[in-house]
Amino acid sequence: MIRQYELVEAVKEYDPLANEELLNRAYVFAMKAHGMQERASGDPYFTHPLEVAGILVGLRLDVATIVTALLHDTVEDTLATLEEIESIFGKEVAFLVDGVTKLSQIAFQSDKAKQAENFRKLLIAMSSDIRVLLIKLADRLHNMRTLHFVKSAEKRMRVAEETMEIYAPLAERIGLHAIKDELQDLAFAQIHPEESASIVSRLQQLREQDEGLLQPILDAITETLKKNGLPAAVSGREKTPYSIWRKMQQKNITFEQLSDIMAFRIIVETISECYQALGIIHSAYSVIPGRFKDYISTPKSNNYRSIHTAIIGPNQHRIEIQIRTKEMDEVSELGVAAHWQYKQGANRDGYQYQWLRGLLDILETAEGPEEFLEHTKLEMFQDQVFCFTPKGDLITLPRGATTIDFAYAVHSNIGDHCKGVYINGRSRPLRTELKNGDQVAIITSKTQHPSPTWERFVVTGKARAAIRRFVRQQMHQQFTSLGKTLAQKEFLQAHLKLDEKKLEKAFEAFKVKTVEDVYASLGEGLKHPSELIRILYPDYKPAATKVSTSLPPPKQPLGSPDISGLIPGMAITFGECCHPVPGDPIVSIITTGKGAKIHRSDCNILDQYMDTPERWIDVHWNEDAQQTDRHAVRISMVVVHQPGSIAAVTAIITRQNAHIINLRTKHRTAEFYEIGIDLSVKGVEHLKNIIAALRTSQRVVSVERS
Ligand code: MN
Repeated sequence: MIRQYELVEAVKEYDPLANEELLNRAYVFAMKAHGMQERASGDPYFTHPLEVAGILVGLRLDVATIVTALLHDTVEDTLATLEEIESIFGKEVAFLVDGVTKLSQIAFQSDKAKQAENFRKLLIAMSSDIRVLLIKLADRLHNMRTLHFVKSAEKRMRVAEETMEIYAPLAERIGLHAIKDELQDLAFAQIHPEESASIVSRLQQLREQDEGLLQPILDAITETLKKNGLPAAVSGREKTPYSIWRKMQQKNITFEQLSDIMAFRIIVETISECYQALGIIHSAYSVIPGRFKDYISTPKSNNYRSIHTAIIGPNQHRIEIQIRTKEMDEVSELGVAAHWQYKQGANRDGYQYQWLRGLLDILETAEGPEEFLEHTKLEMFQDQVFCFTPKGDLITLPRGATTIDFAYAVHSNIGDHCKGVYINGRSRPLRTELKNGDQVAIITSKTQHPSPTWERFVVTGKARAAIRRFVRQQMHQQFTSLGKTLAQKEFLQAHLKLDEKKLEKAFEAFKVKTVEDVYASLGEGLKHPSELIRILYPDYKPAATKVSTSLPPPKQPLGSPDISGLIPGMAITFGECCHPVPGDPIVSIITTGKGAKIHRSDCNILDQYMDTPERWIDVHWNEDAQQTDRHAVRISMVVVHQPGSIAAVTAIITRQNAHIINLRTKHRTAEFYEIGIDLSVKGVEHLKNIIAALRTSQRVVSVERS
C-alpha cells in the first residue's frame, strides 16, 4: 500500500507546484470517513481509494483528480456529504466526486435497450469532464484486481461482464491501452477461467522453449536499422491472453498458427524516420501481405498514430511491428491522459473533452457514426443502430432494422398506419435499412395498413408480432366472408334456409364461440358446409350426385418458427450438406414435394440451382431462433492420439453447454485421431465459443466446422 508521503512525493515529481496540503487533507478525510469499513479481502476499505489514487498518479494526473480518487467512495459509502466536500475541497473536487458517484449508480443490465439508454446517460455524465471517466476506470481496475476476493460468483461474473462490455472498450476509446489490456485479461480470467488458464500456461511454455528468442530478434532488428543509418529504440512484448483468445475465436487458427504472439515496437525521433524505418524493415524482410496499416497519415479516431506491419522476421518468425515517434508512443500508452498533460496550464476549457463531444455529435448527427461504432470496438453496440425521431428522441434498434421497425418502435399505431418515410430529409422506400445517426420521419395515413410483405424485412419482434396480428385479423375476415358465401351456396343448392340464429347449434361441433367463427372455419376449409347442414337439418338427405363446391382443406401449417420469409404453412427442412444454424447467412430452395430446404448461403449444393432462380427464396432467422440449442452442426477435428484425448474433448464441449449427438473416428494414425462430432448448438456464436475453447486444449491439433 502506498503511503501518504509517497503519494505526495509521486505527484510532486511530475507536478512540482501541486497543492500538497489538499492531498494530505483528502488522505486524512477519506481514511477517517471509511473508518473501520473493510473490503471483501479483509483489508481496510481505505486501501481501495488509495490504490485508485495510485493508478491515477501513474497516469500523472492533476491534483484535483488524485484528491477525487481518494474521496470517490465517501459520498456513496460513508456519512460524508457532497456539501461537506465542497466546503473543504472546493467546487472542482465536489463536481468530480459527484460525477463519479453518479457514474457508479448507473447499473448496466443485460437488457440491450436499457443498456443503450444507460450508455447515453454515461456519455452525458462523462462529457462534462473526462477526468470523471479516468477515475471511474481506475476504480474499476482496482476492483477487477481484487475481484477474486468477492464471494458471490454471480456478482463476480456480472462485474467481469460489465468490464468486458463497457469499461474495457471505453478505456480503449480514450487510448488507455495498458488499462484496457489489464481489464480485459482480468475479466477474461473470470468469464472463461479454463481457457484463460490454458492460454496462460501455453504462453509460459513458449517462453520457456523460446528462452532468449525475444532478445535475438530485438538485436537483429536493431542491427538492421543501425546498418542502414537509423539508430532506434526497439522493444518487444507478448500479446495478452485475451487478445490471443479473440484471435482463436475469430480466425480459423490454432495456437501454433498465431503468428504474432510477439510484437515489436520501433521508436524513432521524427515522422520521416518512421517511414525510413518502414522502408528498411520492408526491404530486409519478407512482408506478410494485408497487414500493413498507416495510422500516421490516417490517425484512428482516438488519436492513435503508428505504422503497423507484419513480416517474416529474423529466424523465420512471423512477427508484428509497430513504428512510431516518442510522442506518438506516449499518447498511445497514456491516451487522453497524455493529451491532458501536454495541455496542462493552458486554458483547460473543453479541449480534453473533445472526443466525448465528438462522440455525442456523432450520435446526434448523420456524419460518420458507422465509423465511430465500428472502429472504436464498442462491441456491445455493433449490433445496434441509434436513430432519432424528428424531435431528437433516441430510438435504439437491432442492426439490420428497417423503417418499419422504427415506426413500430415509436408506437404501434404509427407502425400500423405507416405509409412512407423521410430519412435525413429524403424520401426513402419503407424497406430501407437504417444506419447510425439517421433521423427518421414516418408519414402515416389512416387508410394504410400493414402488408404481409413487410414481415420479410422487419427484424424486431414488436414489428413482426404487430404485422402478424394484423394479417391474421385480415385473413380471419377473408375466411369469414368466404365461408359465408360457401354456406349460402350449399344451402341454396339444398333448398334449405340458412338461419344465422340457428348457427349456435354448430358451436360445439365446430369448436367455436361466434357465428363469424363458424363461417371462418368453413372459409379456412377446416369444416365442410355439408356438416353445417347435417347439424342444422339432421333429417335432410343430400342428393347422391352432389358435387362439392368448397375448397379442399389446406395442409396443416408446418413452418419452422425459426425461419421467416416463407409462405405460412410451407414445410421446412435443413440441408444435411451444410447444417445451417442461427447466425449463418441462409437461403431457401423450393424442392418439389418437400417444401423449402434451408442452406447456408455458401453451401456448394447451391451451384445446382443456379439456373432456376425461381426456386430461390430469401429467408432469415427469427430473433428467437437462438433461444434453443437444438440446431445440429458438424465439426471435424484432429486430436493427439493419447489416452484420455477424446474424453478431454467431450468434457470441453460439455462445459460449453453443448450436446454431443454423435462422435465417430474417421481416421487414426499412431499420432493422431481424426474425429467428426455432431453437436447441437444455439447458433453461430455458441459454435465459435466451442471451437475456440477446443483450440485452447493441448490435445487438439485442429478444429473446423465441416
Ligand atoms: Mn470505488
